[in-house]
Amino acid sequence: MKAERNKILEVKNLKKFFYGRRSLLKKDRTVVKAVNDVSFSIAEGETFGIVGESGCGKSTLGRSVVQLLKPTEGKVMYKGMDLASLPPEQMRRLRSEIQIIFQDPYASLNPRMTVRELIQAPLDVFSEESADEKLEKVKSIMEKVGLREEYLSKYPHEFSGGQRQRIVIARALILDPKFIFCDEPVSALDVSVKAQVLNLMKDLQKEFKLTYLFISHDLSVVRFLCDKIAVMYLGKIVEIADKDELYNNPKHPYTAALLSAIPIPDVDVKREPILLEGDLPSPYNPPSGCLFHSRCKYVMERCKTIEPEMTEVAKEHCAACHLLNKTE
Ligand code: SF4
Repeated sequence: MKAERNKILEVKNLKKFFYGRRSLLKKDRTVVKAVNDVSFSIAEGETFGIVGESGCGKSTLGRSVVQLLKPTEGKVMYKGMDLASLPPEQMRRLRSEIQIIFQDPYASLNPRMTVRELIQAPLDVFSEESADEKLEKVKSIMEKVGLREEYLSKYPHEFSGGQRQRIVIARALILDPKFIFCDEPVSALDVSVKAQVLNLMKDLQKEFKLTYLFISHDLSVVRFLCDKIAVMYLGKIVEIADKDELYNNPKHPYTAALLSAIPIPDVDVKREPILLEGDLPSPYNPPSGCLFHSRCKYVMERCKTIEPEMTEVAKEHCAACHLLNKTE
C-alpha cells in the first residue's frame, strides 16, 4: 500500500479570465474563461500532469499556479501559504523554491550569455556566496544534467536543442528548488532527445526530491512521467485520476478519444481511434451545458443545457459527464 504523502500544493476553485475592451457598439466586454473553477492538489515528490489540446488553458493554469499570471479568483496554497496574499518579499524568497522550465529552450536562454552566466544567474540574484563557490555549484549541477565542464564559456547557439534544454534544467535546479512547473518541456525536441531529457527529469526528481507540475499535449509523455493526470477541456478539468487508472479505465468520452489516438508500439494490436468531430470550440463563445457536447458522440438533450458536475467514479478518480449519472 502506498504511504500518504504530504500535500505541497493545493489549487482551489482557480479562475483566470481575460477581458476584452469595451466598445461603443457593444455594452458587454468579451470574456475568455481560460481557466474556470479548477481544483486539484499535488503531493510532495509527485508528478502531476495536465493534458489537453492546444488552447484548452493548460499553460494558463500552470502560469496562474506559479503566479506568473494573477488569478482572477480562487486560491493557490503552497505548503499551506496562500501565494496571492504573501507579502512581496516573502514571495520573492519563495521564487527560489518554485522554478519553471519553459517549452522552448531557444527562447528561454539569452543568446549573449555564456553557459556559466546563464546557469549562475539565479545564484547572482538569490545567493550571497563568493564567485568561486557559485562556480563550483554551477560545475556540479552541469555534471548532474550531463553537460561537460568545457561548455562553461560556450553560448546557447553552439548547442543542440536537447543540450539547451539541459542548460535550462540546470538553471532551474541551481537554487535547490522543491517545486518545478514544466510547461511542455520536451515538445520542441526530437523523439530520441525527448526520451533522454524525460529520463533525466525522472532521475533528477528522485535525487533532488522534486515535485513537478507537468503540462503537455502528448499523452505518451505524460504517461511516462506522471503519477496523477488531469484532462483539461476549454478551461475546465473534465477528468482526474492516477495515471494507470486513467489509462486503463477512462470515464470521460474526451479522455477516451485522446487515449485512443496514442500509437501502440505493436503491429499485432489493433485499436480503432475515436475520431473527434470538429475543432476545439472558440473560448470566446464556448458551448452551453457540457463544454464537450458539440464534439461528443454520446451527446444527450440535457448535455446541451446542463453542465455536468465532477463525480467520483473510483478512489481518487473523478470525471464530469452525464453518462456517469444515468439514473438522474
Ligand atoms: Fe458527452 Fe454529454 Fe458526457 Fe458531455 S456530458 S461528455 S456531451 S455524454
